[in-house]
Amino acid sequence: MTDALVLTDVRKTYGQREAVHGVSLTVHEGEVFGLIGHNGAGKTTLLRMISTILTITSGKIEVYGRDVAKEGDEVRKLISYLPEDAGAYKDLTGRKYLSFIAELFVSGKEKDEMVQKGVELADLGDKIDFRIDTYSKGMMRRLLIARAIMTSPKLAIMDEVTSGLDVINAYEIREVIRNIAKSGVTVIMSSHNMFEVDMLCDRVGMVDQGNLIDVGTPEELKKKYGKETLEEVFVTAVKGA
Ligand code: ATP
Repeated sequence: MTDALVLTDVRKTYGQREAVHGVSLTVHEGEVFGLIGHNGAGKTTLLRMISTILTITSGKIEVYGRDVAKEGDEVRKLISYLPEDAGAYKDLTGRKYLSFIAELFVSGKEKDEMVQKGVELADLGDKIDFRIDTYSKGMMRRLLIARAIMTSPKLAIMDEVTSGLDVINAYEIREVIRNIAKSGVTVIMSSHNMFEVDMLCDRVGMVDQGNLIDVGTPEELKKKYGKETLEEVFVTAVKGA
């Protein structure tokens, strides 16, 4: 089994305060891995360190064997990062936005192919040629996921990708993520929605106050804690931590 992502004793300090306390974790190629935890637990900090956006205070992060701290340029070729608050240029159409992003990566025929892949991934029908400021939140999220995946990353990093979406839109985005994983992309994502994590993720990491308190498949965790839902598992794990 290839390791897509390996964190070894990773710490992050903001000023005097340590927000991530020595997290070690391995995510395998092709997995959808979910991080769950309270507000302020450290999920975004972890995802931003993996994405090379935040420096690591100590420890090591490797993406497909590449050291995030030492080989940032190489790592950035392997990943895509979709922050929770990601936006797009609202006066462009969806297609023009995808084209603008694709141009940052490739040109000519390759660019056209990348845009076409983005259009297919977004699956917005004729709305792809509408201005982005006419898009609903769900349409916007589809476009942003398409933007993140059309570049063919090996590791997709997604922070609260369904937050604020209604049931149908969240369901559809989960389908998109499943398909992304089926196509061989490894996904690490954070979510506050335990049902979603249970349905979607192959394995789950529970984060509490900067510590990774447990990791397993949803079924393993439910069995271990003797609970029927991941929500109950999480509450029990946090209280016992
Ligand atoms: P949420 O679910 O609310 O998004 P989270 O699990 O993603 O939370 P982080 O955003 O990683 O949590 O925050 C972890 C801790 O680090 C929090 O205590 C937060 O206040 C702190 N923190 C995050 N970013 C900074 C920063 N730039 N400067 C100082 N402290 C920060």
